[in-house]
Amino acid sequence: MSEELPRQMFDFHMHTNKSDGIMTPTELVNHCKKEGLTTIAITDHDTVDHIEEAMDAGRSAGVDVFTGTELTVEFGGVEMVHLLAYDFDEKNKELCDYLKKFQVERDDRSRKMIANLQKLGLKISWEELQSRVAGVATKRHVKNLVYEKADNLEILQRLGVASPEEFSKKLTARGKPADPGEWKKIDLAEAVKLVKGAGGSCSIAHPAYSFRQYAKDHPDYLAELKMLGVDAIEVFYGFHTKEEAEYLFAKAKELKMSMTAGSDFHEFYDPFCQGVGRWNTYGLIESQHLKWDFFSGFLGIGGLSIHD
Ligand SMILES: [Zn+2]
Ligand SMILES: [Zn+2]
Repeated sequence: MSEELPRQMFDFHMHTNKSDGIMTPTELVNHCKKEGLTTIAITDHDTVDHIEEAMDAGRSAGVDVFTGTELTVEFGGVEMVHLLAYDFDEKNKELCDYLKKFQVERDDRSRKMIANLQKLGLKISWEELQSRVAGVATKRHVKNLVYEKADNLEILQRLGVASPEEFSKKLTARGKPADPGEWKKIDLAEAVKLVKGAGGSCSIAHPAYSFRQYAKDHPDYLAELKMLGVDAIEVFYGFHTKEEAEYLFAKAKELKMSMTAGSDFHEFYDPFCQGVGRWNTYGLIESQHLKWDFFSGFLGIGGLSIHD
């Protein structure tokens, strides 16, 4: 990705160290403030642990912070389906109980992944991972830990992994040597119910990226998602191309679904993300209209909608 993305004033997809980002919630909110953002939602993976601190930091910094999370869900056997949830009650009992249960599943998966990487000769341990993680342990933590050790670089080269970007594709993705195997994820429809039960709304994350293969045989997948209760499409995303954004934009209009936008910021020097608030509407819509949609049509607060 060489083209420089515009700087927007809002961002509804970002991560802190409560999942696989580098900053604490307070640091991220302050960083957003510094970068000129006015409205944000932080969407750490399968957790709500970032929310209270982020809200407090938002109040101090004068940045509007909405509740958010990014749920790992099962849909159509697709390897990575992420459901963004917004504006829910982060203390909702069903949601919190579910997240606690899923944490066990995630940890189990990380353990298996680490054991498989050890079998390949790589130096990494579960204890090390635990000492680094402030919240939810993810594949990104595992990768970063592997790359921290000079000894591992030679082994990675021998395994044919030329760069960190290839780590997942060559080692931990489905069917690869360190693949921890299938994990028990919540069905997308169930996750939607959980979010709505907590008073929230849902957007399907980075669809052009997640559904690239699936869409070939299921061109109507976005309609399927809508039927299951998904309210919005993350049309604008740091890593979506112009063509992908155009397609998703047209689909959102056709299906009368809302649109969300976000950078998926985790850390600096990320080949997939240029920073907070960095995503492109490619001239399809004024970003301000998207913000209105987030507040009105999408979150049901009333007001303007981009479909009016
Ligand atoms: Zn995601
Ligand atoms: Zn994300």
